[in-house]
Amino acid sequence: MKLNFKKILFLYGNNFNRCRAKSILFIPVLTIITTLIILSLSSCCIDYSKFLEPKSEEINLSGSEEDAAKIGELLEEYNFDDGDFSGSDDSRDEDSFRDIDYTEIKMELADTSGLGVTPEEEEEFFANLGGIYPEEKFMQVKEYFEDFKILYPAGYFTLIKVTRKQDYSAGYGWFEVVHGNNLYNQEVMEALKDFEISLVADDFYEQYTIDMTTITHELTHCGSGSFIYLFVKDLEDYKWGTYYSYLIDGHIVFIEKDKMFFSKYELIQDIKNPDDFDRIYLDAGELDVGEAGVSDIDFTMILDELNAYSVSAKCAVACEECVKHSINIGFGLLKQMSHLELYLNRCYEKYPEDWVSISGNKGVAFLIMKLWLEAEKYADAVKDDERFNEGNQSVTEFVYHPDNYGIIEKYFSDSEIMALKDMTFLEASKKLDKIRVYDIDS
Ligand SMILES: [Zn+2]
Repeated sequence: MKLNFKKILFLYGNNFNRCRAKSILFIPVLTIITTLIILSLSSCCIDYSKFLEPKSEEINLSGSEEDAAKIGELLEEYNFDDGDFSGSDDSRDEDSFRDIDYTEIKMELADTSGLGVTPEEEEEFFANLGGIYPEEKFMQVKEYFEDFKILYPAGYFTLIKVTRKQDYSAGYGWFEVVHGNNLYNQEVMEALKDFEISLVADDFYEQYTIDMTTITHELTHCGSGSFIYLFVKDLEDYKWGTYYSYLIDGHIVFIEKDKMFFSKYELIQDIKNPDDFDRIYLDAGELDVGEAGVSDIDFTMILDELNAYSVSAKCAVACEECVKHSINIGFGLLKQMSHLELYLNRCYEKYPEDWVSISGNKGVAFLIMKLWLEAEKYADAVKDDERFNEGNQSVTEFVYHPDNYGIIEKYFSDSEIMALKDMTFLEASKKLDKIRVYDIDS
């Protein structure tokens, strides 16, 4: 079980040094290693329809045209007819997770409000994927996406929109990495040999669902943070580090910072027995973060991960029909929740002025609240599903221990933000001047 993360990370950093956005690309590279490891060790009903002007040429994946009954029919089909989507494995019928009713949450995930993509965008997307996969696999991939875009339209939207604007390495490159066709992937696989694990499922639909939990996660990162200038012209001139910015449910959520808070790398001091996950995200080690500083920005990246791990969980739940074995989606999500708790606890105890600032900024408070509630919702949704919660016990106990969970409650109380919990980001942006919500492609 010896894996030299730092060596691999340096190696990746060096590979990307030639890239324009080298310091930014470092984050996705780091996160995919983490995601692969975490996976292997083992929505929103926001109505943006008023915000997005319908365009007649678009395929609006549901929007006003597809009513709830139609989505209900589709979900019914996916819930009870394995043959259409998940292949045939009758033994799964005996598994306990079949008793878990995901219908309601999958209905939410199937909401396509405001998630329009054009036929041209889809055509371009598949043309590019055709260049990545061998022909036979590409046909399966295309079939998969016919269902995926119905089950998890927000993920489908992210894949198409982010790959259109991103550099290849931070866009389609993720499909290559996960597919296993390039140098980076081979290096990761080599490193993972020590874990004596297999990342390959027998069934295509199961394997591709695992791939999608990784790719939607990574492309969410690649549509967030300093990359937002690719999607919103108005945000070109902002210096990275002066704002929080995340791709959430098809929109860019943007909040200017009042100030920079303490580094997330301080948190490692507060963890008694840090595991690999803690070390990857919270231990600066020998990394030279001074120059790039990308990961060293207060808790910006903790929130970014919380958002991306929620996306992984949503993807897994939306496509759970395909999953037979453990892909341990809950662990990463709970760990990021624990890191946010650690951050807020340290803030409250050691940086009282920062605590006042964080809880006084309603925009930041709204963001934290929404990300937390979403993470909690999906952690809760999969908690009894043996496929998604292997190894979760200790981290669940940590997150919900009163000493830790208490800081979340205190934060929500001090910031008086819970009154707005039912608002969407768009609604909040009209009430709170700190928050701005942008349409992608604007
Ligand atoms: Zn990540």
